[in-house]
Amino acid sequence: MKKNTGLETNSLPQFFYESITDITPEDIFRMGGTAVGIDLDNTTVYDSTLRLFPGVKEWLKDIQSAGLPVVIVTNTYTVRAKLIAKKMGGLPYIANANKPDISGFRKAVEITNTDISGFVMIGDQLFTDVQGANNAGAISVCVKYKTREILALFHFLKIRRLEKIYLESKGKGDKV
Ligand SMILES: [Mg+2]
Repeated sequence: MKKNTGLETNSLPQFFYESITDITPEDIFRMGGTAVGIDLDNTTVYDSTLRLFPGVKEWLKDIQSAGLPVVIVTNTYTVRAKLIAKKMGGLPYIANANKPDISGFRKAVEITNTDISGFVMIGDQLFTDVQGANNAGAISVCVKYKTREILALFHFLKIRRLEKIYLESKGKGDKV
């Protein structure tokens, strides 16, 4: 099987933010968003844990209060996704999404009963969250990863290096 490094594909986010909690409902509406997909590790929770980043619960409340449905789209396994979804107030979730595969995004759109073109996917990885969202025809938003990936450290070090090379090749090297 050919390994997809992401370097040849469209992995450039349409929007960059420092942190998910910086994104306001107004920002989502300005992007043309009608629903929001969120990644877990290093976007809303500390890597490989069940611990939410500070402010995430309040952020979710703000987004939902504005009438925007939120769904978790994660590559993590079902039991862990379920526990975190519960902590987030019982959010719907797509586990084992296998991003950048687009099937998870399709399911998320079904759940939220919206159109893929208004689905705002927020995640920290270019070659999973962003690439998948772009391929699916969704709106891609990249946030900076905050904590070191604990599991498979060398795997992630390699990915982060590739992301840096990719962004620099696109003239966006200042974003990482
Ligand atoms: Mg992540």
